[in-house]
This record gives sequence, C-alpha cells and structure tokens, in this order.
Amino acid sequence: MKRICLFCGSSPGVRPAYLDFARDFGTDLASRGLDLVYGGGRIGLMGAVADAVLAAGGKVIGVIPRSLADREVAHAGLTELHLVDTMHERKALMADLADGFAALPGGLGTLDEWFEIWTWAQLGYHQKPIGLLNFEGFFDPLLTFLDRLVAEGFVRPEHRALAVVAPDSPTLFEGLLAAC
Ligand code: AMP
Repeated sequence: MKRICLFCGSSPGVRPAYLDFARDFGTDLASRGLDLVYGGGRIGLMGAVADAVLAAGGKVIGVIPRSLADREVAHAGLTELHLVDTMHERKALMADLADGFAALPGGLGTLDEWFEIWTWAQLGYHQKPIGLLNFEGFFDPLLTFLDRLVAEGFVRPEHRALAVVAPDSPTLFEGLLAAC
C-alpha cells in the first residue's frame, strides 16, 4: 500500500480537537512512507491533513474540479494538483490513484465519497481496503444504522465487514494493511 485516498470535511468542525486529530493523522501517514491522495483543498480538515503530510516530508496529490478550485481554495503547495472537469472525474481519478481509502469526520461530501467507494467494492469494481476513523465515536450513530441495514437484510454481512473501523490512525493503518 503506497497511497491512501482520504475523504474528510472541508469544514474544521466546531471543536479544535478535530483539526488536531486531522494533523496527527497526516503526520502518522507520512511517517509510514505513505502518500496522500485527497480533494485538493486547503480548507477544513482536508487542508489540515495535507499540510501535516507535507510538513512531515510526504507527498500529497490533490484532485479538484475546476469549478471548485476557487470555492475550496485549492492548495497551492501540493506535490501534484490535478484539475478535472467534473465531480465524477474527481472521484474516479482519486480512486484510480489510491491503493486504499479512509474517511475522517466530515459532512455530506465526505459521506458521499466514502459510501461510493464502498459500493464500488461491494460490486467488485475494486479490491482496495476501506477505512473509517471513528474519532471519539463520531461515526457511532452511522455504524449503528449500518448494522441495522444488515439486520434488516439490505446489506450482506460480508459487505458490511469490508469497512475497517478504527478509533485512531495506528489501528486504522494496521487494519488497512491486513485487509490488502
Ligand atoms: P464535506 O464533507 O461536505 O465538507 O465535503 C468534503 C469533500 O467532499 C469536499 O472536497 C467536497 O468538494 C466534496 N463533495 C461535496 N459534495 C460532494 C458531492 N456531491 N459529491 C462528491 N464530493 C462532494
């Protein structure tokens, strides 16, 4: 596993702990010799992770639609920045470039991107590991609902099990490597 694609908030969240956690995640990722693939913005948690990876000497590849480049304030200091035409191209290129995926706390865009990559795994379009960083139980309500989907017969247990859920980045990276 060489490159991790990260989905996370373009907002910082209301508590400074989210930004601290995002920075620690980026530092840990780079210290393992991994490169970051992400949405290319310099704001919110996404920008904090990118800055931390760069500060730790890692490589960061951003992929951002031209129309969003201004609104999300594209990061000017990345190792590579790919400008694409549509959100769908962005997601496809991020998926192609990465060997594994992870999500940190975020909003609708984060959930959309993470669920899409999970459904692609469910359909057998890729075999790359998918992780969720459940910082301070942030995703607990979602995980409970996902268990309900299994219990009610809408998601197969083996597809539910594709998501590696971890409370911190060391546990997450171990889980992603084990799932490769
Ligand atoms: P958010 O979690 O909403 O802060 O968004 C995080 C990232 O997801 C940002 O890079 C957004 O550009 C991206 N995003 C927002 N909406 C969508 C969407 N409908 N489809 C795919 N990505 C999105």
